[in-house]
This record gives sequence, structure tokens and C-alpha cells, in this order.
Amino acid sequence: MKLGVVGLPNVGKSTLFNAITQAGAASANYPFCTIEPNVGIVSVPDARLDYLASIYHPEKFTPATIEFVDIAGLVKGASKGEGLGNKFLSHIREVDAIVQVVRCFEDENITHVDGSVNPVRDVETINFELIFADMETVSKRLQRSEKMIKTGDKKYAVEVDALKRVYAALESGQPARSVALEKEEQELLRDLFLLTDKPIIYVANIAESDLGEDVDNLPLVKQLREYVEPQGAEVMAVSAKVEEELSGLESEEKAMFMEELGIAESGLSKLVKKSYSLLGLISYLTAGKPEVRAWTITKGTKAPQAAGKIHSDFERGFIKAEVIAFDALKELGGDMQTAREKGLIRQEGKEYVMQDGDIVLFKFNV
Ligand code: GDP
Repeated sequence: MKLGVVGLPNVGKSTLFNAITQAGAASANYPFCTIEPNVGIVSVPDARLDYLASIYHPEKFTPATIEFVDIAGLVKGASKGEGLGNKFLSHIREVDAIVQVVRCFEDENITHVDGSVNPVRDVETINFELIFADMETVSKRLQRSEKMIKTGDKKYAVEVDALKRVYAALESGQPARSVALEKEEQELLRDLFLLTDKPIIYVANIAESDLGEDVDNLPLVKQLREYVEPQGAEVMAVSAKVEEELSGLESEEKAMFMEELGIAESGLSKLVKKSYSLLGLISYLTAGKPEVRAWTITKGTKAPQAAGKIHSDFERGFIKAEVIAFDALKELGGDMQTAREKGLIRQEGKEYVMQDGDIVLFKFNV
């Protein structure tokens, strides 16, 4: 899963990104790595996995991960080729969701590209570029599909109709995701990878001094939320600077610092969790002496396909899944043997829909 971090220059993207790439370096349990300068992988914090590790003392500990890509270079005019222009837009096409960092901190030493701190205007600037790029993509395809209608293939008529509705929305300043499309239409437009069709989270980068209890009601954060909420998007208030400091600390120091700041959970941890749920992802878990591990699946995945995440043989030769919910196992103090004796481990077949936190052992034919 890949998230693209965008935002105007000087809003705190690199600062947040540093926090992402440093995170985990300080905590043994959650590994991270940097593949390229602009890609960081963070683990999805999961207390269930930590608990299982404390029971099994596994040789290997593998949490779920999310990949962040720093997409720098989005400036006014990017869709017309200014700044890094279209090159950066092609990076966004590859991501599953977008994290837009928006400046909500005042600091006269740090110039704002447009002269003043105004989150709504900034979001409009960025979204305008994304919308503009999508308009170009849609109109190119529309020209092609209109010509194809005469082949008689009905799918082109359906496609043209959908494209026109999407174009109209974009033209009126609305993102593609605001258009209600039928499943068939969605399929037809999928390979356009429209930028404004991707799920988005707004990160309001607030001043360190504003951290504390009521961050959601800070005037600039509120303004931003009132603006994006009608589009079905959420705002998270984070201090990128604090996150950068936090991510470099060992767990004890970190806990102390967080207490001082009056925050219960780091912004980065919240962001990772929120991204996971935004994308409709859940985890199932496997636990044993060799490895305790979280596996990422989308909500609604059935047992054989979930098994296929581990190995394609598991899916092909799927017989059944032995399942126990994490909470049920925890109630027994994590004792799998007792769970088995008490008949609490369920036998599930091909049609079983996996649940978040299922602890699973797959049985399969080779
Ligand atoms: P980018 O251009 O969006 O990547 O922005 P940077 O992360 O490089 O940040 C631009 C400047 O703003 C840097 O000097 C940061 O130290 C500073 N900055 C980032 N976040 C905050 C913040 O929350 N408060 C203050 N005062 N400065 C910040």
C-alpha cells in the first residue's frame, strides 16, 4: 500500500517525511526502511501483534506496513508543466491514496509561497492542479472513446457517458471521487488512475505550541475541516516538527515527551492507522514460535484469497481455516492449547469472510 505525500512548498512535507523515515529506527519492534530518498516504509502499530509476541517470543516479528512516497514539486501551474510539472503528477498516479499536508502554523521566519497562511486557499491551489491534470486525462480518453462508439461495442457508450459526467464535475471544481459511478463504469475508468479519484487525508500541520487537547478546534484547523468535510475527507491535526523530534526518541524518552505535550498517541501512529482504515484494509494474524505476523487484506476478503497472501499454494489447495478472534484468545491469556481443548477454534471454509484480528492457521493440500 502506497501513500503519496503532497502539499505546497514550505508547508512541512519534508519534516513529516523525516518523521516517517526515522520512525522505528528507535524502536526495535517496528522496523522501517528507506528504499529511495523519497520512499519510507512504516509499520502499522498493532497492540494485538505486540501481545502475541509477548506470548510466543517469536524468532521473527513482522508487522503490517505502509509505504509513503514524498511527492515534492507540486506548485501552482504544475499541471501546465511548471516546476517539476507532469513528472510529479505521474508519481501520484501510482499511489493508492493521497496525504495532503497543509500549513496551519504561523511563523514569520518561514515564507509562505503565497504570502500568508491560509489553509483553504492552499488546498484549492493543490486540488486545482490535480483537477486540471485529470481534466486533461479525461478529455483525451473521451476523444478516443467517442470514436470507438461506432465499433458497436456497447461498452464505449457506457464509457463516454461516464467520462462526460466526470468531466462536468471536474470542470465545476469537484473531484472525480464525488461522481457516483456504477460498478461497470468504475471498471471502465479504472485504468485512467485519476488523481482526484484517490482517497485523501488532510494533515493540518500545526505549531508545536498549539498541540494539546483541543487541536481540532483551532481556528485554521476548523476552517480546513469545514472546507473538506463536504467532500467526504478528513483532517488530522499534527505537528510535523514534534513528530520529527518524537520519531528519533527511544520509547521511554518518547513517552515522557508525549506526556509533557499532553498527547496520548503520536500523530504519525494516528496517521498510519487512519490511512489503513481509509483504504478499507484490515489485518489477520498468524502466530507461532517461528514468526508472529500481520497480513494485510481488504475488508470482505474470503479465506482462500487471504491464504493466498501467504502463498499461492495456500489458495489453490485451500481446505479450511482454523480461526480464533484475537480477543477470545486474549481472554484465555493467549493459551492456544486451552482454546483448542475448549473447542473455541472455529473451522471455517471457502466462503468465510475474514475479520480484522482473526488469528488463523490455514490447512491446505499441496
Ligand atoms: P516542505 O517544503 O513542505 O517539505 O517543508 P519543510 O518540511 O521543509 O518545512 C519548511 C520549513 O518549515 C522548515 O524550516 C521547517 O523546519 C518548518 N516547519 C515545518 N513544520 C513546522 C511547524 O510545525 N512549525 C514551525 N514553526 N515550523 C515548521
